[in-house]
Amino acid sequence: MSDTPSRTELSALGEFGLIERIASRVQLQQPSSVKGIGDDAAVIDPQGLHQVVTTDMLLEGVHFDLGYASLRHLGYKAVVVNLSDVYAMNAEPRQVTVALGLSNRFPVEAVDELYEGMLLACKNYGVDLVGGDTSSSRSGLVIGITAIGAAKPGDLVFRNGAKENDLLVVSGDLGGAYMGLQVLEREKAVFTQTGAQPELTGHEYILERQLKPEARQDIIALLRKMEVRPTSMIDISDGLASEAIHIALSSGLGVKIYDEKIPIDPATYQTARDFNLDPTTCALNGGEDYELLFTIAQADYERVKGNPSLTVVGHMTDKASGHQLVDKQGGQHELRAQGWDAFLKKS
Ligand code: ADP
Ligand code: MG
Repeated sequence: MSDTPSRTELSALGEFGLIERIASRVQLQQPSSVKGIGDDAAVIDPQGLHQVVTTDMLLEGVHFDLGYASLRHLGYKAVVVNLSDVYAMNAEPRQVTVALGLSNRFPVEAVDELYEGMLLACKNYGVDLVGGDTSSSRSGLVIGITAIGAAKPGDLVFRNGAKENDLLVVSGDLGGAYMGLQVLEREKAVFTQTGAQPELTGHEYILERQLKPEARQDIIALLRKMEVRPTSMIDISDGLASEAIHIALSSGLGVKIYDEKIPIDPATYQTARDFNLDPTTCALNGGEDYELLFTIAQADYERVKGNPSLTVVGHMTDKASGHQLVDKQGGQHELRAQGWDAFLKKS
């Protein structure tokens, strides 16, 4: 924080003043956004397509900690995690609405920062902010975002479309966001106990994975360009294990993942080691990577093979084979969806 940041109480603006301030910063870009902020509801033209709607809520103290996440990053992330869900349907996000619960602890400048982050994400992904709701909160900051997207009906990809022997493919690398969180929590604890300034240098990649994730719009475009149509897809918010099991259960199949295939960035790997954690476990069960996990027909293998953004980590099996993790020695273990919650309890 700079020396004396100006502080304007929310009460000085009032709810309508605040909404006007937000509205004045919003510019609509999408032809499908017929009406944005300013009436009782937004109006969207589906343009003959199917609309995709998804909502995610972020609660202070549960999903984020303002002790280490800036409001700008938080705003960015809050939008991105919703867009990720739209991409996971193989749809194009077009609009978002934002419901805010604000305590009077936050000045107008804090809301400005939050919207700066949200509007930057909207700009980067070509999405319009078309409405929302503003309420006071007694339990910290609450951010509920709804994203609306569109797709040709035949383009939509669901979790339940995987077929036996389809290959299981993941974009990017995994476990980074979880390790970023571990670093932030460690530094916060050190700061609380000793007042020492956080030591974050060298951890830029995993911190960015945690604080300012991106949705894989580029992977959707890449698959389209390669003419590969996933048979099923999901975004990775709770860890590879949990999402792979979601696809298997929805599709009425089993799944097999090979430990040694899981893509882990060297920075993630090293930090996990430094924390005495198994990097593979972090990739399987750490959350918030927002990569895409999808299945493709074996016939499409040649097209994805060798692409640095895509890794085949396993395949779908028959239902009776269950959910398996194959270790480097070839031993089989039951794949379990520990997910994010279990991790939180442990730490
Ligand atoms: P109503 O009382 O009819 O729900 P509001 O006063 O809540 O109307 O909202 C007025 C307009 O401002 C609507 O277009 C709504 O979508 C928009 N709006 C309200 N709060 C926000 C917000 N936090 N961010 C963006 N738009 C908002
Ligand atoms: Mg309202």
